[in-house]
Amino acid sequence: PRSDVHYFGAGPAPLPTSVLERASQALLSYKDSGVGLCEISHRSGDANQILADAKAAMTTLLDIPEDYEILFLQGGGSGEFSAVVYHMVSLWVEKRRIRAQEDLTVAIADGKTEGPLEQKVFQRLKQEVDEELKLDYLVTGSWSLKASQEAARLVGAPHVNVALDARTENDGQFGIIPPESTWKLTARTREGGPGSAMVYFCDNETVDGVEFPSFPESLQACPEDAVDDDAPMVIADMSSNFISRKVDVSKYSVIFGGAQKNVGNAGVTIVIVKKSLLPPTANLAKPDLLRKLNLPVGPIVFDWPTIAKNNSLYNTLPIFDVWIAGQVMADLVQTCGSKKIAGQQEVSDEKAKLLYGTLDRYPQVYRVVPHQSVRSRMNICFRVAGGDEQKEKAFLAGAEKRGLMGLKGHRSVGGIRASNYNAVTLDSAKLLAKYLEDFAQGV
Ligand code: PMP
Repeated sequence: PRSDVHYFGAGPAPLPTSVLERASQALLSYKDSGVGLCEISHRSGDANQILADAKAAMTTLLDIPEDYEILFLQGGGSGEFSAVVYHMVSLWVEKRRIRAQEDLTVAIADGKTEGPLEQKVFQRLKQEVDEELKLDYLVTGSWSLKASQEAARLVGAPHVNVALDARTENDGQFGIIPPESTWKLTARTREGGPGSAMVYFCDNETVDGVEFPSFPESLQACPEDAVDDDAPMVIADMSSNFISRKVDVSKYSVIFGGAQKNVGNAGVTIVIVKKSLLPPTANLAKPDLLRKLNLPVGPIVFDWPTIAKNNSLYNTLPIFDVWIAGQVMADLVQTCGSKKIAGQQEVSDEKAKLLYGTLDRYPQVYRVVPHQSVRSRMNICFRVAGGDEQKEKAFLAGAEKRGLMGLKGHRSVGGIRASNYNAVTLDSAKLLAKYLEDFAQGV
């Protein structure tokens, strides 16, 4: 039975049993209507309420300021790797176009250059795109690497600036975050013009067990008026540490994450985006212009302005998935009380401390993969007996005998990974810690 199993899967991940029990009822008959939750229209009043409740719970937990929009989409975290690029490139191009138009209008009026204006603007814009359009990526693990590769696929590798590849300083392996002074963020290229279109990082690397301890100091807070200010936009993938600690949302332009770890089940992706990056405040490049510049125009279902304008109901949203996420978050609002997400953070930290502490007590048996200073509280990655395949298999088999499941490391890196998401109880963590002890002592 479920009660005998302690599941540490990395995503999809455990969900609170109480939510799943309510879900099984709701699937058959939502609010005693005789119609199941997967059967109701996404345009119904109930669906709108479910969406509003999920947003409200998330807003409470993370103290999301009023000038941010919460969007629900499909396509997973990977879909947002692309959406981020479409949107931030479009914003950058339009800023540059407007500036070029202003400059050249004056220059033509002053007789410093000759028209036609539109052609001149395009020429300058084309040159700026070719030479100056850059997207900065901090590559600290497999997922930020993938995101940077998607950007290169969409806009071409010369436009992607890998400001940091954490492998180069660590024998080709992920596991550290080198000092900020070594990052090669794109510098401003012209007076008063934005440098990179964005700086992207993955707050918690699920495969490699690397988590940013805090917001990187050298990245500026999202400017008050993110449209006119030239500071780079900060984008963070929080797929695997969403709602597990306090976040100063106001420092970010965009935060996104798939639901299937801490928030809910696979099927919805949540995007928290500063409203000033969306119309009517922000201007976006027209598709025709992007095409002429050989830049990508994204699918409409990834178009944040369209999704925002339609309250996330541009097309059929999986309302069941939103409901699950809403229930998980509403329960957290209840249990955390006035501490909000800091309440969950305390529990997450306690579980992580217990597990790392146990691993560290047996250095002859276990080796934690990432460096001490960047150890993820969510994905605890370690090797057994120096990565000896047989010993690691024996470790996993012994764990399963005790009902400790889902501990196999990601196929790309091997080893062991204990994912410590919100729905993993302190009791489960204690049982795993006990097993770590017993295994190390040869019991
Ligand atoms: N980012 C991170 C940090 C992830 O852990 C994952 C998936 N495990 C993704 C992005 C990709 O998400 P999806 O599978 O929903 O596309």
